[in-house]
Amino acid sequence: MTPNDTPPDMLDACSHPLMRSLQRRQPLLWINPAWAPAAEMLPRLPVAAAHIADVRTLLTRWAPALAVLFPELAASDGRIESPLLRLDDPAAVLGATPAGAAWLKCDHALPVAGSVKARGGIAEVLMHAEDVARAHGVLAPDDPLWPLRDEARALFARHTIAVGSTGNLGLGIGTIAAALGFRAVVHMSAEAKAWKKARLRERGAAVIEHAGDYATAVAAGRAAAHADPATYFVDDEDSLRLFLGYAAAAQPLARQLAEAGITVDAAHPLFVYLPCGVGSAPGGVGFGLKHVFGDHVHLFFAQPCATPSMLLRLAFPDRPRSVYEFGLDNRTQADGLAVPRASERVFGLMQHLVSGVFTVEDAALFYHLRRLDAATGLRIEPSAAAGFPGPRWLLESPAGREYLARHALTGRLAQATHLLWTTGGLLVPDDEFDGWLGRAG
Ligand SMILES: *Cc1c(COP(=O)(O)O)cnc(C)c1O
Repeated sequence: MTPNDTPPDMLDACSHPLMRSLQRRQPLLWINPAWAPAAEMLPRLPVAAAHIADVRTLLTRWAPALAVLFPELAASDGRIESPLLRLDDPAAVLGATPAGAAWLKCDHALPVAGSVKARGGIAEVLMHAEDVARAHGVLAPDDPLWPLRDEARALFARHTIAVGSTGNLGLGIGTIAAALGFRAVVHMSAEAKAWKKARLRERGAAVIEHAGDYATAVAAGRAAAHADPATYFVDDEDSLRLFLGYAAAAQPLARQLAEAGITVDAAHPLFVYLPCGVGSAPGGVGFGLKHVFGDHVHLFFAQPCATPSMLLRLAFPDRPRSVYEFGLDNRTQADGLAVPRASERVFGLMQHLVSGVFTVEDAALFYHLRRLDAATGLRIEPSAAAGFPGPRWLLESPAGREYLARHALTGRLAQATHLLWTTGGLLVPDDEFDGWLGRAG
């Protein structure tokens, strides 16, 4: 479907055919008519490859301290990384065998935070910790363990890090902030699962529960932080630091792909399927991948039918829109994706780099989650399964086939790699997961 035949200012979004399908919660693949070549778009953006490299250096700098703070990082020398795994029997998981190979980027197994948020959230907290330490003369570049010294911890204890979240970002930020000795305050929206709040409180973070949605929780956190100069607010709707933290995933992935003998070039396309909420994680990861692979990587975002916030933003680019405007209710079991309004910053950065967005019913999340568990024993949360219908949308739908034809990919599919980004699940309690298995259709 290409909704862009009409100039945006003349668009009556509510009566648009795409809009009607979205309102009926019909799962669909939307192809982005504003897509443009990476070589043309990347140089126009305010962030560049050097910014991503800075984050990699930051993470290297912190690895010794993180290895001490988190015993689970001892084996990786303080690096927070996740495996790349081949799906040996894609049909068992996806419901059909796609042309090409299917792989999982297992961010559901990221240590410390248990989700993709470990990338962005932790990077932003570390950057802030360095800022605070530098301002107070505590940063000791020659001592990799400076953050663990009494002076640094006493300083951090006088500062607060706050965040608004549907659960996982709070879990990531709260965990790392509390471990460094900061006061951590997490504003949770109604979707946030009880076990995530309990786990955070165990780690020493303050959890403030809001009856409203994600945007409400973020707004409350932002307001509270602005009232207090010693509070730093991680703004998921507008943070370049988070975005760049996610982007740092690209280099290690490129290395893993090379080690696995996977070529990515014009004859070997890479299709990446990323669950999308506010857009930071898939946007940042996608941005990093575009820097490494250019137009050989094709980015597809996945969103629940109840909350296609980034799809709306991209498809009707004249102004920001919330899913409520169109009668959608933002209610989904994919709690990590329950975001009514996309990040304006990420929209601005990724508008021309995203190939398409597809929507997913909750039933499909449970279907894929159960099949993945049965076929591989891997346990992911519902949000993390959102990308799984992606290969079939691309290969089997008219919109997908048209995309492939337009990019001259139809004859190259046998050498293609489909990469499903599993974004969360490591810390999910067994009884919670068993409940999801029971729901699966
Ligand atoms: C947060 C989250 C996402 C999406 O990230 P956004 O930055 O909100 O787009 C996807 N999957 C899981 C499990 C998440 O927690």
